[in-house]
Amino acid sequence: MGSGKSGKKAAGAGVVDTVSPSWEYAPAPESRDIVTIAPEYGLFISGEFRPPAAGGTFATLDPSTGAKLTTVAEAGPADIDLAVAAARTAYENVWGPMPGSERAKYLYRIARVLQERSREFAVLESLDNGKPIKESRDVDIPLAAAHFFYYAGWADKLDYAGFGPAPRPIGVAAQVIPWNFPLLMAAWKLAPALAAGNTCVLKPAETTPLTALLLAAVCQQVGLPPGVVNVLTGAGETGAALVTHPDVDKIAFTGSTEVGKQIAVSAAGTPKKLTLELGGKAANIVFDDAPVEQAIEGIVNGIFFNQGHVCCAGSRLLVQESVADAVVDRLKRRLATLRLGDPLDKNTDIGAINSRQQLDKITELTAAGDAEGAERWSPPCRLPDKGFWFPPTVFTGVSQSHRIAREEIFGPVLSVLTFRTPEEAVAKANNTPYGLSAGIWTDKGSRILWMAQRMRAGVVWANTYNRFDPASPFGGYQESGYGREGGRHGLAAYLHV
Ligand code: NDP
Repeated sequence: MGSGKSGKKAAGAGVVDTVSPSWEYAPAPESRDIVTIAPEYGLFISGEFRPPAAGGTFATLDPSTGAKLTTVAEAGPADIDLAVAAARTAYENVWGPMPGSERAKYLYRIARVLQERSREFAVLESLDNGKPIKESRDVDIPLAAAHFFYYAGWADKLDYAGFGPAPRPIGVAAQVIPWNFPLLMAAWKLAPALAAGNTCVLKPAETTPLTALLLAAVCQQVGLPPGVVNVLTGAGETGAALVTHPDVDKIAFTGSTEVGKQIAVSAAGTPKKLTLELGGKAANIVFDDAPVEQAIEGIVNGIFFNQGHVCCAGSRLLVQESVADAVVDRLKRRLATLRLGDPLDKNTDIGAINSRQQLDKITELTAAGDAEGAERWSPPCRLPDKGFWFPPTVFTGVSQSHRIAREEIFGPVLSVLTFRTPEEAVAKANNTPYGLSAGIWTDKGSRILWMAQRMRAGVVWANTYNRFDPASPFGGYQESGYGREGGRHGLAAYLHV
């Protein structure tokens, strides 16, 4: 696990240490030079970067070292007024009346520029978020471009999307996104909204504003009319002021269930349309006839991808009792091969935790796992001295009442539970206030269908996990929120249907 130890001969003894790995990868960092980070960033309003009216700023950090990357503007009420007004003007005069075939051209341009500048975006995302470069490079950025390509295709075909003739856009969309997939969440929000003819005010998360600001620069680069996309950086207060602004027609929020509930309360009794994509506590269910090696990869991908900072993470492993010991043994062997470290190193599997606050939350919840009697295991793993880090962790002996089985940890922590029958697996999988996603691992197609029909989860993956496609709708049940993003369904959230 990148311990840096070598299995050299012990001096004088002539004994070979067979426990420590006898070799080490050479570092292979992606160059930082491809990205230029300005010393400070303004707000993107009406096609221009401008300083915040009240002059507030905050720092954004590299979570792998804790070092400051740059200073970012904090949007206040006057900036929000300005951005919403710019979006309104652009909606009424330019973007709303524009034929869909013309809107599509801008979306295609954005998609192409995301591809052309993908290395720049990937390095910047890993710097600001802490995620491994191989994930930002191979997942986040290509998927973000794919979303713009996909919705560009819909822009001139809305009459045929199944919502009746000439469906109308909603107007000005306030879009608030989290820090776990900063650019991808921006793409999930902006692409369908713009394709449908709405204009947008986007609020990225406080800890990860930089790729949204680079995307704003891309909007300038492709000549997007001023005011169609506005980006307001800031913290929770900025988000709250934006979504409660009276001239906003539509709110799209991704983040915690707690904040989602507050937004739902604030929007109740107003004409604002609302979609919420909130937390999850997904079950990844492994039957005794599952292809074990594939399942192990699926479990690892399910919970350790993006350090477990994934709303649909397979954070509860439900494994059939007869194979539980064997599966957990193999899983532990596999985890011992994961490499934790520099996010810009192409060999890295596990990057940094996004913030001190999130690290504290993971630490607190895992301590509750210890206190409630679950058994904690992590592979031998040296954590870097600086920055925010947490080792991949597995808890066995977990019962359904444990906090680590009920609450969203949002970190690289897996809780293992067992079951005997498919009925018990369904009951345990559904025993959660959430309902965003689930995974099923079995050789039998009939069992996959039987299970999928009974699971209250918006997405059910079969013999795979964490697969995303812009054509496929994504969203939750219960406290995981409402509305769907992606696919034709994702358009409905931005149209009067
Ligand atoms: P939040 O829900 O607090 O943040 C999500 C976004 O909403 C951020 O842009 C945030 O700004 C903003 N925001 C915060 N408060 C308000 C408010 N009152 N009104 C409007 N917008 C607001 O999530 P956190 O980032 O604090 O993470 C906390 C927990 O939420 C995580 O541990 C995880 O469990 C869950 N989470 C779930 C996600 C998902 O994809 N389902 C994504 C992220 C988090 P700012 O960042 O500046 O606070």
